[in-house]
Amino acid sequence: MVDIYGREISYLRLSVTDRCNLRCRYCMPADGICKKSHAEMLTEDEMVRAVEAAASLGIRKLRLTGGEPLVKKNILSICERCAAVEGIREVCLTTNGTLLPQMAKDLKAAGVERLNISLDTLDPEKYAYITRVGTLKQALRGIDCALEAGFAHLKINAVLIGGFNDDEIPALAELTRRYPADVRFIELMPMTEQEQFGQNAYVPTSAVLDALPELEAAGEDGVARLYRLPNAGGNIGLISAVSSHFCAACNRIRLTADGKLKPCLHSDAEYSVKGLDLEGMRREMERAILAKPACHAPLSSVERSNAGRNMNQIGG
Ligand code: SAM
Ligand code: SF4
Repeated sequence: MVDIYGREISYLRLSVTDRCNLRCRYCMPADGICKKSHAEMLTEDEMVRAVEAAASLGIRKLRLTGGEPLVKKNILSICERCAAVEGIREVCLTTNGTLLPQMAKDLKAAGVERLNISLDTLDPEKYAYITRVGTLKQALRGIDCALEAGFAHLKINAVLIGGFNDDEIPALAELTRRYPADVRFIELMPMTEQEQFGQNAYVPTSAVLDALPELEAAGEDGVARLYRLPNAGGNIGLISAVSSHFCAACNRIRLTADGKLKPCLHSDAEYSVKGLDLEGMRREMERAILAKPACHAPLSSVERSNAGRNMNQIGG
C-alpha cells in the first residue's frame, strides 16, 4: 500500500514479546518491565492474522523482533505460520543471539531466512556491563551456531556508544573478515527510559569512516549506507538513525506485542488491532499507514524520542 507521501509500505516489524533474557542499558530498565497481563497481549492466532492483513495490503517482508523473540515459547510456530502466509516473501528475525545455540537449526526449518544478531562489544567485561546479565561467550556461540545452521548473510548490529565501544570500531569491523557477515553500526537513539550514558554517548556513524579510512563505498541496503574493508567477505553498514533522517524512504510499519500498530518509531501515535477480526485488522492497518507522518521530530541528547515506550516494547 502507498501512503499519502507516496512511500510504498512493504515491511512489517512484529514484536512478538516485550520480555528479554538480557537487560541492555540503552533498551530497558534494570528491573525489567512492568509485566502486562496475558490477556492484553496478542495471541499467536492474532499475530498470524495481523500478518495476513498486512500481506493483503502489500507487506512482503516480515521481521520478528522483541524484546527477545527467542524467549517466546511458541516462536517456532509463529515463524512457521507467518512464513506460510500468502504474499510474505521473506521472514527475518532480530535476536541477541544467546539462545541460538539451541534454536538456530529449528528457526531455519521454521522458514526464517535471515538473522540479525546484536553484538555491541567483543570485550567480555563490557558485554556483561552493557547487557547487565549476559555473557559474550554465549553470544559468540550464537553466531557460530547460526552459521552452522546455514544462515547466510548474517547481519551483526552494534549500537555505537561514546566512551563504551567507539574504541572497538576497528575490532567490530574486522568481524566482516572473520565471518561471512555484515557488521552494521547504529547510532544510539534517545529513547524514553534508557539509562543515561553521559554527554558523549551519542556518536555519529561518521566516526566509523574516521576510524577506518580504508573503507570503500559499496552502495546502500535499505536504511544502511554500505562500505567494505579491503578483502572482507561482508559489508560495513552505517545506520544514521539520529544524524540523518531516512523518513523519506521509510517503507515500514511496526506492530507491538500488545497489538499496537506504530506508523512511526518515534511517535506515540498507536492503532490497536487487539481482538479484531481480519477485516478489522486490515482497516486499522490502512488507517495506520495513511497516518504515517512525513518525518519524525529531530532527535538528539536533549531531544528525546516521542515513542512513548522503551525499545524492548517496540522492537527496534
Ligand atoms: N532482543 C533483540 C536484539 O537485541 O537484537 C531484538 C530486539 S532489540 C530492541 C532490536 C535492536 O534495537 C537491537 O539491535 C538493539 O541493539 C537496538 N536498540 C535497542 N535500543 C536502542 C537504542 N536506544 N538506540 C539504538 N538501537 C537500539
Ligand atoms: Fe533485550 Fe534486545 Fe533490548 Fe538487549 S536490545 S535488552 S537483548 S530487547
